[in-house]
Amino acid sequence: MEKKSQVETQCVQGTYDPKSGEPRVLPIVQSTTYKYYDSDVVAGLFDLTVDGHMYSRISNPTVCEFEGKMALLEGGVGAVATASGQSASMLAMLNICSAGDHIISSSTIYGGTYNLFNVSLRKLGIEVTFVRPTDSMEKILKAAKPNTKAIFGETIGNPGLNILDFDKFSQVSKALDVPFIVDNTLATPFLCKPFEHGANIILHSTTKYTDGHATSIGGVIIDGGNFNWDNGKFPGLVEPDESYHGLRYYERFKESAYIVKARVQLLRDFGTVMSPFNAFLSHLGLETLHLRMERHSANALELAEFLENHESISWVKYPLLPNLDEYALAKKYLPNGASGILTFGIKGGSEAGKELIKHLKLTSLVVHLGDARTSILHPASTTHRQLSEAEQIASGVAPDLVRVSVGIESIKDIIEDFDMALKAVKK
Ligand SMILES: *Cc1c(COP(=O)(O)O)cnc(C)c1O
Repeated sequence: MEKKSQVETQCVQGTYDPKSGEPRVLPIVQSTTYKYYDSDVVAGLFDLTVDGHMYSRISNPTVCEFEGKMALLEGGVGAVATASGQSASMLAMLNICSAGDHIISSSTIYGGTYNLFNVSLRKLGIEVTFVRPTDSMEKILKAAKPNTKAIFGETIGNPGLNILDFDKFSQVSKALDVPFIVDNTLATPFLCKPFEHGANIILHSTTKYTDGHATSIGGVIIDGGNFNWDNGKFPGLVEPDESYHGLRYYERFKESAYIVKARVQLLRDFGTVMSPFNAFLSHLGLETLHLRMERHSANALELAEFLENHESISWVKYPLLPNLDEYALAKKYLPNGASGILTFGIKGGSEAGKELIKHLKLTSLVVHLGDARTSILHPASTTHRQLSEAEQIASGVAPDLVRVSVGIESIKDIIEDFDMALKAVKK
């Protein structure tokens, strides 16, 4: 599929291009390994001078087509699929940071990523400074240190729903000469293309909208090929890799150096690889991404407007509600819709919110988002319970906040479900 094709066509067709007589649909290659006739060819595979698969911890034909479609959709030079969104975030950082390094992150990020950065990366000796996404450029720049190696944010914060100010964050990254890494999970490449707004590396939890049907945990890292690693800050990409008999990634692979290293060094050593079956389902899910994201966005806006006018609701947050602070950034970066997630607080606070969840019928309580089915969650008592209250508030989780992942069912039925449950709570 050509890079210049439209996003809808890319979702459906991807990179899989069967030859005469081959399966029309991407096959699941459920094989750990690949047969060769000549040790010299296998030696070439190890040396990265011959293209091909040798072991499915490094690459697999099914996973490869999923990676190809994601790279195509985001407009990157390559992608590496991972076992989960968490492992995508971990590898994205470990590919360029080691003990003694430092990263800057927006504070309004997914709770799991917050913990990864704040607890686990610190244990590995990587320091993190969280900045408020609304902080001025000067203030964010003050968080930088000589050992800063990346700046990180989410297109749409989960669950704070703040919209990343790409211009500001990319200016900071350019001023510091470090890559700008963006988690584009909630927006998806259908609604936002971070590489067009200065991002250098994109990652996704493909568990969410990419799969879209709640079948497969997965993640992906996509390389924009638009960062010069040879600036003195990234020896791991420039100097010889002794574990790879002296390979210099940047010299050899130029703009693909980052993503090649993520595969041949990090997948090799950490093994957080996506299974072929999950790649098959995620690749299949992408075929309807454009249709789903349109409907998720339209339904979420309609439910947000309904809740905003409901007497039992104290506040509603959806980036495309015109009275919100997020509105201007949402209009700028998400012109085709703001995805399917909205949050609200109900009069009666946290307890009333929990009770509302019990009364809903169509909408189910699950620890997930981005599914075709409408779902709901109270983050403070569930996904974010491992954070302190101060950390919860810093990451955008008020105690009464209820998060809805609006599905692609009829909006009439979704609204009726909320209307019925809100009436039940009042009694
Ligand atoms: C869910 C999520 C993750 C983590 O992904 P998993 O697939 O659950 O490991 C990371 N970032 C965001 C924005 C998420 O919503």
